[in-house]
Amino acid sequence: MDIKRQFLLDILIAILVVAVIILVDNLFINLKSKPADDNWFSSSIAPENVETSVELQPISGKAFIPILNFHHIDTAPAKADKVTRSFYVVPAKFEQIINDLLDNDYRPVFMSEVADYLGKKQLPQENIMAITFDDGNEDFYTNAWPILQKYKIKSSLYIMTGVKGKSWLTPEQILELDKSGLVEFGSHTVWHPKLTKISEEEQRRELVDSKEFLGKLLNKQIEILCYPFGLYNDSIKALAKEVGYKASLTFDQDAWQNPDDLMALTRISVYPGLDVMKFLDKLKTEN
Ligand SMILES: [Zn+2]
Repeated sequence: MDIKRQFLLDILIAILVVAVIILVDNLFINLKSKPADDNWFSSSIAPENVETSVELQPISGKAFIPILNFHHIDTAPAKADKVTRSFYVVPAKFEQIINDLLDNDYRPVFMSEVADYLGKKQLPQENIMAITFDDGNEDFYTNAWPILQKYKIKSSLYIMTGVKGKSWLTPEQILELDKSGLVEFGSHTVWHPKLTKISEEEQRRELVDSKEFLGKLLNKQIEILCYPFGLYNDSIKALAKEVGYKASLTFDQDAWQNPDDLMALTRISVYPGLDVMKFLDKLKTEN
């Protein structure tokens, strides 16, 4: 009888041990299989590569977001006149500007990011700004791009989709730059007309065809328009919005952006003699 009781007791203990093992095992499986984004545990164990949320501040009135504009990063041709020379910034000066911006805690972002922040009327605490290049000149690829890559700087380029030739970026270069994740493309129309001087039908074609061409080439939405010669009026702004642009760029020399007027964002044309930091400081205090 004692032996039989002892035997039953042993079985009972064995069943209990197995039950405990199964329970503990299940608990571990549950712990391990919790999805990473489930906030059940503690945010302090979030993986390092997950971007922490940026604290945003509401915008009241205009926002100081400098948008610099360049055309050529190169030495101007020897016979170039004064106006043409103003479009050329030599690579060393360009690199110095990038260094100065970084030293002064500016963080270059894409124009689409600027448009998003302004659209939501919220800004990160950092000094965001944008670096833009008009026309899609080939010297972007040969001279500006190595510098931008060196400092991992984002830039936004505006392409005339009808223009081809050896002075301009090729579709292959555009694709390569797009893939880098550091360059964003937008429309600079098809043929670079003075939009204020052509019919509404032609305006529509320039805005829509360039948007579709780039959209198809890059397989993404093209959301930013850059007005050729910086020329625009109220009806062109309305048309740009109607055909799907989120924001448009002018040459109105300022760094203050009106979140209620995304179709006329201001830009600063950088010419060889401009002291960019001094000019930004001046604009900042002028509001
Ligand atoms: Zn242009």
